[in-house]
Amino acid sequence: MKYCVRCLYPANHPLNISFDDDGVCSGCRIHEEKDSLNWNFREKKLKRILFSYKNSAKENYDCIIPVSGARDSYFIVDTIKRLYGLNPLLVTYNKQYNTPLGIRNLAYLKTIFDCDLLTLTVNPEIVKKVTRITLQEMGSIYWHCIAGQTVFPVQIAVRFKIPLIIWGVHQGCDQVGMFSHLNEVEMTGKYRKEHDLMGYEAEDLIAKYNDLKFEDVRPFIYPNDKEIEKVGVRGIYLSNYIRWDSKKQHEDMIKIYDYRTTEQTRTFDTYNDVDCFNYSDVHDYIKYLKWGFGKVSDHATREIRLKRLTREEGIEKVKLYQKKKPKYLKLFLNWIGITESGFNFLIDRFRDQRVWERDKTHQWRLKDSILNHINDNGVLKTRLEKYADCIFQVTERLGPKLKGDGYILIGKGIGQT
Ligand SMILES: [Zn+2]
Repeated sequence: MKYCVRCLYPANHPLNISFDDDGVCSGCRIHEEKDSLNWNFREKKLKRILFSYKNSAKENYDCIIPVSGARDSYFIVDTIKRLYGLNPLLVTYNKQYNTPLGIRNLAYLKTIFDCDLLTLTVNPEIVKKVTRITLQEMGSIYWHCIAGQTVFPVQIAVRFKIPLIIWGVHQGCDQVGMFSHLNEVEMTGKYRKEHDLMGYEAEDLIAKYNDLKFEDVRPFIYPNDKEIEKVGVRGIYLSNYIRWDSKKQHEDMIKIYDYRTTEQTRTFDTYNDVDCFNYSDVHDYIKYLKWGFGKVSDHATREIRLKRLTREEGIEKVKLYQKKKPKYLKLFLNWIGITESGFNFLIDRFRDQRVWERDKTHQWRLKDSILNHINDNGVLKTRLEKYADCIFQVTERLGPKLKGDGYILIGKGIGQT
């Protein structure tokens, strides 16, 4: 397998990746723009877009921000509401894999920023039914989360006639350099289906599974083009206008707003996705079983590009986390009602044969991994000079019953303990 000589990404990255003559991947090359673009100019562009959507008559919200109890939510709301003075409607799709910390962070988010929040919680039995199907069809326990969180804001935009949706980072751009920042790509139903949803819209699932009904998947159905055009809905990504640095942004939020973080099972990043017990756990373990690399490679790659880890330090992190077994597999299996061997059978069908093979005893074996590519040709020539350390904070752990962390859901989410 070919691996980028600068970061840790393999040629079989599911979002598609290419390499130049030096062996550097498309993601690393696009990332170089972060140090060459005029971000002041880009931010002015953002301001112009935002102000053109400001509803000065105050008859409606100015925009929609999709949020969760983690992943850049505080930063995005802080930027849009405090810095630019827009009045956003926050929307959240309830993933139902919530950690207490995620519930706490989300409750504080709406309180601190004094925002209205709309939540969609789909009937848990329907979520289980859909998840059993997506596990079988595409080896995913996360399809419902991604489908829900990418569609609910669009449905609300159409229904409430709020044309502007503000997202954080564009993953295809940030990870594999699918687009330049200068393309200013916006949200599309096509990208959502092809990449976020692994090629499956809700309608495709109904067509294939007789016991799945239209009413089961209604919450996951993307509004049609006519509805979108009528309101003029568009979704912009802040990462095209602001030099995106998730670690630094989270640290600012910890300092200013007491955003809380925690250790995660399969990665060293303690900031992103702390709201979900499956994301950096069972879901990420599945990613590893499919593609031969996990979230730790994504996070180490990001830190290498931002010059806080050397490539060698990144590989050490991968060594430490990549093979770790998930903590919450039993919990998940009980919830969905599948045995561990049934789970393994379902996932094994999706292992990428370019990196996985069975040995003589029929056990799965990684044919290749970044650990075999520490000294590849071109590593020295293309390396980035590290300029800072890479330390992720774990904030003090306070439970809901402990004094000083009263997030009982009263009013806008804060009460007394
Ligand atoms: Zn790379």
